[in-house]
Amino acid sequence: MKTPLTAMTLALFLAPLAAPLGAQDLPRLMPDDLFRRNIGTPEQMDTQFPPHHIIDNVYYIGTETLASFLITTDAGHILINSDYERNVPTLKDSVEKLGFKFEDIAIIIGSHEHADHMEGDALAKELSGAQVIAVAEQVPGLRAMRPGGKEHPIDRVIADGDAITLGGETLTARLTPGHTDGCASWEFDVTDANGAPHKVVIICSLGVNPNYQLWNHPDRPGIFEQYRQSYAKLRAIPADVPLGSHPAMYRMAEKYPRIGQEPNPFIDPEGYLYEIALNEQAMTLRLEEQRQAAQAQ
Ligand SMILES: [Zn+2]
Repeated sequence: MKTPLTAMTLALFLAPLAAPLGAQDLPRLMPDDLFRRNIGTPEQMDTQFPPHHIIDNVYYIGTETLASFLITTDAGHILINSDYERNVPTLKDSVEKLGFKFEDIAIIIGSHEHADHMEGDALAKELSGAQVIAVAEQVPGLRAMRPGGKEHPIDRVIADGDAITLGGETLTARLTPGHTDGCASWEFDVTDANGAPHKVVIICSLGVNPNYQLWNHPDRPGIFEQYRQSYAKLRAIPADVPLGSHPAMYRMAEKYPRIGQEPNPFIDPEGYLYEIALNEQAMTLRLEEQRQAAQAQ
């Protein structure tokens, strides 16, 4: 006897096909492809990208492949990602080219405890007098980051879900671990030129570095579960202005020439979900690869 196909089972059956970002729409990129896309060449990491306005009080001040952002307020500015220490003079120049002062930076925060995003904290603090705020899980990695023997400054430690406020601006830390234990995405609200509200998320990183062991990791057995929970956590945020620790994560180079057009090119809710899906697929492919290799032994 055949089981009748009820409307509900039919709906469940069709659900994956109806999803806007089904796997069939995604290019099959592996973690190594996304890693190369993100970091670019050594020259790109150190080459200034034209500093520019993104939306509301948010500006880009990073290099071609290392993203740094400035959020301006009347009470001082917030710097997100000081990058490598050698990049700090470039960030300072970008801030000045936009007409702001580096010394007006009051708070420094970062995406995660890797040198390409937070090594410059000590120098950036020295030049600005800003407070360095770290998410608790970032602290061990930051303490080990000592460019030129300098101690990594940490003035305040916050927890997942805590908010930082300055001059009417509020940024909430969303711990999205996997790439590192302290990987933090930053969520905040902005208003566009027409007065419409939008939600920004600076995605920490969802990337699996080429040398990462996902299957049977000796010290981080739950690493792939961390990634999965982070994808779910980010999907639950109704973000429509995606940014990231590397500009390719939100296709900055494609959007940059459209600055000034309407709608603001950085408003891209599909791009936000697309980046999460692309990374989830890559992580899953790598996990499966490593699981099969382990079983073949
Ligand atoms: Zn990293």
